[in-house]
Amino acid sequence: NRKFVLAERPHGEPDADTLRLDTSDVPQAGKGEMLLQNEYLSLDPYMRGRMSDAPSYADPVALGEVMIGGTVARVITSDVDGFAEGDWVQAFGGWQDYAVSDGSGVINMGQNPDNPSWALGVLGMPGLTAWAGLTQIGQPKSGETIVVAGASGPVGATVGQIGKILGCRVVGIAGGDEKCAHVVDTLGFDACVDYKADGFPDALKDATPKGIDVYWENVGGAVFDAVMPLLNPLARIPVCGLISQYNATSLPDGPDRLGLLMGTILRKRMTLRGFIVFDDFGHLYPEFANQMGEWVRDGSIQYREEMIAGLEQAPEAFVGLLRGDAFGKRVVKLND
Ligand code: NDP
Repeated sequence: NRKFVLAERPHGEPDADTLRLDTSDVPQAGKGEMLLQNEYLSLDPYMRGRMSDAPSYADPVALGEVMIGGTVARVITSDVDGFAEGDWVQAFGGWQDYAVSDGSGVINMGQNPDNPSWALGVLGMPGLTAWAGLTQIGQPKSGETIVVAGASGPVGATVGQIGKILGCRVVGIAGGDEKCAHVVDTLGFDACVDYKADGFPDALKDATPKGIDVYWENVGGAVFDAVMPLLNPLARIPVCGLISQYNATSLPDGPDRLGLLMGTILRKRMTLRGFIVFDDFGHLYPEFANQMGEWVRDGSIQYREEMIAGLEQAPEAFVGLLRGDAFGKRVVKLND
């Protein structure tokens, strides 16, 4: 059993010393347990938070422990009701080949699911995040303008496409021409603005002639600075993620914009609400799975995946994800 354990807590960007590849015997499943062989490992921005012991909504991974991660796995042996040998499951098996589970939190996908790895993206945690955060917090009405940061990633891509289904004008923000072209041409957003290009704040203003009613926050930092003056009265802001800050080791250069932000919230009577997907919206999972399954099957929602071959590639692929190298949902395939 190959496994990546957390060897050191990173300062800034994770490096070669952060995770260590160990091997051990294949674990034994006991009474009331099952043995899972991981086929796909999800790489997600939240993993950076679990490497750190700063206060957060979840406990950090302990030093020497297997790195946490969502997986799609096959059941090898099972003494758990409702799970049989050969079933595909969605689990949190971690960055390793095998995991033992008592079935808690594990979703059975049956013997022969279509595109099993999609359960780590549009049909799983990132999809639920997008659907629930937009409908419950963003509450867009037909004809309103939604701006989506991180528009080419699994969460942002899904948010924007749901916004289109709901009859909104949807403007994405992404890094570079290639991602922006994908956001408009394949995902069907009305426009996409490259935040790395010169003149980004003006380009965003031009793309939102009626202002912004819902801003989907995935990144924070300079992108939010450009969004803030364009927000309409009563704007809603689902605060989903702040990826531009995850590797930060100090506060950004001044001036301090907190007073400006608080004044804007007050004057424009805006609602900002943070959320943690399973804590706030886990109970909506069955409704989400039905709706999103339908949209994906009938082609209303497009999904792009980037498959990385081999567990040993996972640490580098994860660092690249935080740098913006991923184009679509990054998943590691463990076996040939
Ligand atoms: P993404 O694929 O969107 O994340 C990687 C992308 O983030 C990169 O490709 C890059 O896109 C963008 N990015 C990285 N650094 C910066 C930066 N400095 N400025 C602007 N953009 C940057 O991942 P997900 O779709 O999985 O997640 C999106 C967000 O949602 C994350 O912040 C994540 O933490 C959060 N999240 C929150 C949940 C919750 O419960 N609250 C649940 C799931 C996700 P580009 O090339 O366009 O710059």
